[in-house]
Amino acid sequence: MAEFALAPPPVPLVPVEGETGEFPVRRILCVGRNYAAHRAEMGGDERDPPFFFSKPADAVVPPGRDPVFPPRTNNLHHEIELVVAIGAPGREVTPPAALGLVFGYAVGVDLTRRDLQNAAKDKGHPWDAGKAFDDSAPISAIRRGTEPPAGRIWLSVNGAVKQDGRVADMIWSVAEVIAEASRLWALKPGDLIFTGTPEGVGPLNPGDRVEGGVDGVGEIAFTVAAQ
Ligand code: MN
Repeated sequence: MAEFALAPPPVPLVPVEGETGEFPVRRILCVGRNYAAHRAEMGGDERDPPFFFSKPADAVVPPGRDPVFPPRTNNLHHEIELVVAIGAPGREVTPPAALGLVFGYAVGVDLTRRDLQNAAKDKGHPWDAGKAFDDSAPISAIRRGTEPPAGRIWLSVNGAVKQDGRVADMIWSVAEVIAEASRLWALKPGDLIFTGTPEGVGPLNPGDRVEGGVDGVGEIAFTVAAQ
């Protein structure tokens, strides 16, 4: 039996709808610019293909806890996203086989320190400070199922709808996202993939009430906590 020099960190967990066993998070991959209108609002070009970045597994904020407003930003943004939970290992899978790796789906918010992300873009620096901070991945419970949703994806702040799109408008489908990720990394059970956000991203402040959802998957709700 292994001994540890330090107490090992707890495994980040996300509840599974209707079940007592929780989903252990291994890694979080995120797709950038996967809806045409959001790519345009970020100043992207239609020749730019979607791409991946990541967050640490313990960035997840499960239902019932509120994310804390992060330090060193004056422009925290919301990005509502469909999240794919991976339940089987896969490498170099084809799009027709990709959905066989899926455990289920959840609703997530890719919280972004937009000012730090933009500074990184300007300098050609990595995005970690803008994207991969503590509490940067609030997520709903996971609903089991392999068939991806296609309907409405939305987010409101203090009751006002800010993002209102359709999953079917993704540039890369769920199957294509999984297949492409599996060409870059060995996917393993416990991986989460945030699949990108529709247009309408915008700022959040401490005390703001955020609600969102994906038809057929579930809903998310939290209040941004002060530091
Ligand atoms: Mn995003």
